[in-house]
Amino acid sequence: MSKEQQPANQRSLVYYCECFSNIKVYKSQKKGDALNKPILLVSIIDLITQGVITDNRITISNELIDTFKKYWEVLASSTFKGSDFALPFFHLKNEQGKFWHLKYTSEYDGGRPQTIPKLKEDVDYAHLDNELFTSIQDEISRQILIDTLVSAWLPSEDNTIEGFLNINQKFEDVPLDIDKTIDSCNLDANPRWRIRKAVIRNAFFRKAIVNIYDYKCVFCGLKVTKSITQNIVDGAHIKPFSQFYDSRIHNGIALCKNHHWAFDRGWFAVDEQYKIIVSNNLEEASPHTKPMKDFHGETILLPNTEQLFPELEALQWHRENIFQSR
Ligand SMILES: [Zn+2]
Repeated sequence: MSKEQQPANQRSLVYYCECFSNIKVYKSQKKGDALNKPILLVSIIDLITQGVITDNRITISNELIDTFKKYWEVLASSTFKGSDFALPFFHLKNEQGKFWHLKYTSEYDGGRPQTIPKLKEDVDYAHLDNELFTSIQDEISRQILIDTLVSAWLPSEDNTIEGFLNINQKFEDVPLDIDKTIDSCNLDANPRWRIRKAVIRNAFFRKAIVNIYDYKCVFCGLKVTKSITQNIVDGAHIKPFSQFYDSRIHNGIALCKNHHWAFDRGWFAVDEQYKIIVSNNLEEASPHTKPMKDFHGETILLPNTEQLFPELEALQWHRENIFQSR
């Protein structure tokens, strides 16, 4: 059965992975593949992960355009133009898999909008197949879709380390332990591709964690945001990424910069009742905020749904291997 014939309600994750791997892109000998469509899809998945897009109605918002630009600067070879965004937003509807639909305005005259203002004039919003939208909201399916896009489309032949650092800087608030990441990824036949995949997975992990905890530090409750891309809280791995490569939600908690640093060094841990245990022998002066040791015995902030709670096994591993009780 060809893709067009498959009824929308029978489409599966595998179907969408196939769609994502077979997107039609403009190929140029000089500049390589035009990655507009994959970048647009990554940007949309990014905003769904962050809780910025919450229903299946994808408007031409500043957040989407800014996110697209950010990925464009990292992944594409030319400087950004309005048409780089407008054309894929419009043309994704023609993909063989038919997972992207447009709702036109009454102004639409049948042309193909090449600028962002014209696109806004012609199109109210886009929507995905409901099955696809639901898959993106699910953590596991989302990771599979991101991996598919990354392995199918991310450039793999440019200068390794420089490209890696560039991506890392743009996507991460906290620098990864780069040497360890590279070591851990070198096992594969295609290390560059593995590194990129790991970095992108990590970026999504951090965004998902921060969103689940509503941008608050689980230890002290601090929340300071300036925009969707700037906030003071990190998505932190409980069991270190460099050892376990585990970027599932259950291996994450949100922490402010101070408490992230302290957690990674074992200055505090979390017990099986989700209560904070602070290391003895911390010398603290904290004239304006509550000292760390006063948090001892308090329950960490937890997500609204129990399904998303940090895994007790991971917290136990951290207590046994990282925590400095004295
Ligand atoms: Zn904190």
